[in-house]
Order: sequence, then C-alpha cells, then structure tokens
Amino acid sequence: MLILECPYCGVKAEETELSPGGEAHLKRFGPGSSDDEFEAYMFARKNPKGVHCERWRHAYGCGKWFLAARCTATLEVFGTYLAQTAEPPAEIVEKIKAKRPEWKGYS
Ligand SMILES: [Zn+2]
Repeated sequence: MLILECPYCGVKAEETELSPGGEAHLKRFGPGSSDDEFEAYMFARKNPKGVHCERWRHAYGCGKWFLAARCTATLEVFGTYLAQTAEPPAEIVEKIKAKRPEWKGYS
C-alpha cells in the first residue's frame, strides 16, 4: 500500500486517507494560447512508468493538497512537499538521482 507523509500535518497517511489529483507541475495555458498548447494542457499527461511528481490531497486528514515524488512502478516514495512549490525541492531531486541516475527531471 502507498503511504505518503503529509507535509502539513506530518501524518503518514495510507492511500485510503488520500485523494489523487493527477500530475504535478503542469504549465497552464488559457485565453490567448494556441489550440495545441491548450489541448496539451487539458488532455496530455505523462503517465510514466517510473518517477513521477503528483498532486495528492489529505482528504481524511487535514484536507490540504500536497505534492509527492514517487515511482509508479515500485511505489517507492522519494518525498512529499508543499503544494505551492514550483518544482521538486533539491533534496528530493538528489534522492531521486541517487537511486535513478537515468531520471531526466520532472519536466
Ligand atoms: Zn495532512
């Protein structure tokens, strides 16, 4: 079972306490963008087998959204961080690169 530590309240929450919110760090496109940019923003997701940054909500806890870097194949969690973070924190990136040198980054 996937267990993520909520960075707000510190609880190690099991998957049943959480709600998934999809891919993290999406670049948003709105009015004035091209049709291709908007289509990619609305519908295209990476869905990788491997390291992925995702949005999660501590739905049956504090209720806040946060971000998690984890491996979708092994469920290994590299870290969780605040939802307002624009990119994964350096210590999480280092942890990922130490275990997955082939990882090319979140973007
Ligand atoms: Zn929480």
